[in-house]
Amino acid sequence: MKTYVVGVDLGGTKVEACLMDTERKVLTRERMPVNASRGLEEVIKNIRAIVHRAAAGKHYAAVGMGTPGTYVPEEDRLYGSPHTTVYETPGFIQRLKDMLKVPLLVENDANCLALAEFFASCEGKYRYVLAVIMGTGFGTGLIIDNKLYRGARGGAGEIGHTSIDFNGRLCECGRPGCVEAYLSGPSLSRRFQEMSGRKLEVPEIYRLYLSKDPQAAALFEESFKILGNVFANIVNAFDLEAIIMGGGVSNIPAWYEKENVQRYLKKSLFGIPRKEIPLIKAKLGDSAGVMGAAYLALRELGVLDF
Ligand SMILES: [Zn+2]
Repeated sequence: MKTYVVGVDLGGTKVEACLMDTERKVLTRERMPVNASRGLEEVIKNIRAIVHRAAAGKHYAAVGMGTPGTYVPEEDRLYGSPHTTVYETPGFIQRLKDMLKVPLLVENDANCLALAEFFASCEGKYRYVLAVIMGTGFGTGLIIDNKLYRGARGGAGEIGHTSIDFNGRLCECGRPGCVEAYLSGPSLSRRFQEMSGRKLEVPEIYRLYLSKDPQAAALFEESFKILGNVFANIVNAFDLEAIIMGGGVSNIPAWYEKENVQRYLKKSLFGIPRKEIPLIKAKLGDSAGVMGAAYLALRELGVLDF
């Protein structure tokens, strides 16, 4: 009999699930609104519904779930879901475990994404990789020696909330100078508006950059410098081999051109001679989160090791 697992990606507005076999093939994929504003009971009901729909009558041996924030099992609660505080209700994950009646593995959503993209682009090629998700935030996951690096309590890899300027821009987390306050999609738009008075989305600013608009050029040049230096800091700290970039903002081709981010990255590498650190564009698009979540379940079954 074939063995299956279910991956769940719990987002702020939607919940998504997929059925995966032990060859890592996605067989079904379903999504629906999570309606978190209606409270925890509604969220639990919707997770149950989406798992049921994705399973499509198949028996599944385990469920993996990616969530905003970090799950702390000792307290049975999530931390760091500022946009959906209902997920931080103590006991939420245990309720899901009781309901599902199979092992439930929970991981930060950026870590799930990092895992899926690591397997898609780096497996067998690089063992030390940073994956960055540049979108509404700046999320990251670290793969160290082919293993997802979680830290002491699962909270590792919050590079988006390391400061590049102690007197810098205020981040939504309340601290000054966070990387996210410069390089998330909304932050890039805001910075451009402050420079130019024009309120535009990142793809529109990129079009201006291509047409040699001086303010768009200045914004991107400053952003190449920040990103290159942030990457160099992490490479210097963990001796990494490659960086994967995903999320909506990562679709801008200029990030990958040699003379841009890479120029600043190279300049700030320290110590041992290193090969160029490739900047790899993520391959899986919005499938990554749910696939990485399913990998957690495959690891539980001994199919994957990370
Ligand atoms: Zn922050």
